[in-house]
Order: sequence, then structure tokens, then C-alpha cells
Amino acid sequence: MGTQLRLIIISTSEEDPVDKKKLDHYKELLLKHRQQILNVGLLNKSDDLHVAEEDLADETDLASSLIQQQLSCTIRDREYAKLRLIDAALEKIADGTYGHCEECDEEINSKRLENQPWADLCIQHAEEREREESQTWRQA
Ligand SMILES: [Zn+2]
Repeated sequence: MGTQLRLIIISTSEEDPVDKKKLDHYKELLLKHRQQILNVGLLNKSDDLHVAEEDLADETDLASSLIQQQLSCTIRDREYAKLRLIDAALEKIADGTYGHCEECDEEINSKRLENQPWADLCIQHAEEREREESQTWRQA
């Protein structure tokens, strides 16, 4: 937590807003999340292939297992969307543009990057996009 203050001070240099050490740190976080998603993805796949026979015997169970499958599908979609963000973030680290908002080019708060190292928007624009997305989901 104490590291945050130090970061805010460096702001005028455009080329390297987040220092090298921090970049390595985010890169590590990103790779860790990436691995996690890939592991979960593999697990889900084998779950889908294996439908237990006792589940099929009971209609209520069948219904709930269908709901479960749909749910895990949605989660997987979201995980894969995150995976794409992670890959994009890793590319940005490589070409030195990591840590800037896609919309307004402001630096993304380091606390936010700590929680979501794949974030490509500042908090304001992320909230905006979230609102848009939740509206799209409600319409669907
Ligand atoms: Zn922004």
C-alpha cells in the first residue's frame, strides 16, 4: 500500500509512467491470472464431457445441471474475454504502452492495476463501459 505514493509523483514523463520493476510485477500477475484461467478452462471442459447418470434420472437435477452448464458457459465466456485482455496487456507491457486508459490515455490508478492488472481503462471509463455492457446483457 505504501508504494502508491511514490508512483503518483512520476507523471510528466510520457514514455515510462510505470517503472520497470512495477511492469515486471504486473507481468507476473498477468501471467499468473492467465495460467489460472487456462487451468479452469481445462477443468470445465472435462466437466461438460462427463454428465453423471444419476443426474439424468431426476428431472429437477437435470434442470439444475443445465442451468449449471449455462452458468459455467457464461463464466467461461467472461474468463476468455479476460484472457484476451490479459494478452493485450502483456503486449502493451512489451511495447511500453501499458497502464494507460484506452479512451482518454490517462494513467490507470496503480491500485486498480493491482486488483485488475489487465485493466485497459481508467476507473471512470471502465464504469462507463460496464454500464453499457450491463444494458446490453439486459436486452439479450
Ligand atoms: Zn479514461
